[in-house]
Amino acid sequence: MTKLYLAIPCYNEEEVLRDSAQKLSDKFSKMMLEGKITDDSKIVFIDDGSKDKTWSIISDLHKENPVFQGIKLTRNRGHQNALLCGLITLKDKADAVISIDADLQDDINTFDEMVEKYENGCDVVYGVRSKRETDTFFKRFTAEAFYKILNKMGAKVIFNHADFRLMSKRALNAFAEYKETNIFLRGMVPLIGYKSDIVTYERFERLAGESKYPLKKMLALAWEGITSLSIQPIRMITGLGTIVFAISIIMIIYSLVSYFMGFAVSGWASILCSIWAIGGLQILAIGVIGEYIGKIYLEVKRRPRFIVEEFLED
Ligand code: UDP
Ligand code: MG
Repeated sequence: MTKLYLAIPCYNEEEVLRDSAQKLSDKFSKMMLEGKITDDSKIVFIDDGSKDKTWSIISDLHKENPVFQGIKLTRNRGHQNALLCGLITLKDKADAVISIDADLQDDINTFDEMVEKYENGCDVVYGVRSKRETDTFFKRFTAEAFYKILNKMGAKVIFNHADFRLMSKRALNAFAEYKETNIFLRGMVPLIGYKSDIVTYERFERLAGESKYPLKKMLALAWEGITSLSIQPIRMITGLGTIVFAISIIMIIYSLVSYFMGFAVSGWASILCSIWAIGGLQILAIGVIGEYIGKIYLEVKRRPRFIVEEFLED
């Protein structure tokens, strides 16, 4: 049997928290009765510095039912950090931790399948949305474009997977070795390795309240995702510099030909050549410097260089 913990980041969720808690504890009781999870499994809310009654609701829930636990952050640190806090705090307490949003847009009935896959030897089980009909066209389009761009940039993210996933104790312990502060969890988890699988589900509407991810935060997350996982943008600058420099060579030939054929006004050829050549060299130089900065960036992350899965000694 699995000792399962849920990690649920909450920011100003007073409108949905009670409903969600009820649904989750019903689900947990059912899974406990069916012998799928242990009786000391817990549902843990992480209050990400909410300004409304979220924390007082969490403490009431904890008093009413010991299945609920709460962690309070001193101030708002954003969804990714709140979730990170939950995963790191709970990693030694549970066999497996499932992260899920407080609004229960992700289907809690997939818990069974996730736990089953975990018991069959998967260390990470990703929740993947089969459809995005409940999202607006804009959100769907931007989100899907984002996954594609990220993959092109070399960060392996699971298509249509957000932060609804199960991680085993040993996956969490490996994950804890990633000490970086710029975090984009859904891009980092696949870096760990281990056996993983996906479960698909339909995404629902938010139970109540408004999205805590307005466009500004969404863009910030997307930007964080690209810049924390990839130094590809720097390589693009080097590429651009090379192209401009190549054009400058064409320009030099063109202006020399014009000059010798007598088409050019005096001074034109030299100015034209220097603009292109210097411009190209400058962009190229920035790209080269950027490449080193990119290397420094990856070094300072101090990521684990390997994670051992098994060691057959003796
Ligand atoms: N959240 C958080 N801190 C923040 C913003 C959001 O902990 O600064 C939590 C929020 O309470 C919810 C989850 O992150 O549990 C996802 O937010 P939301 O459902 O509003 O995002 P959406 O589903 O609209 O992308
Ligand atoms: Mg949501």
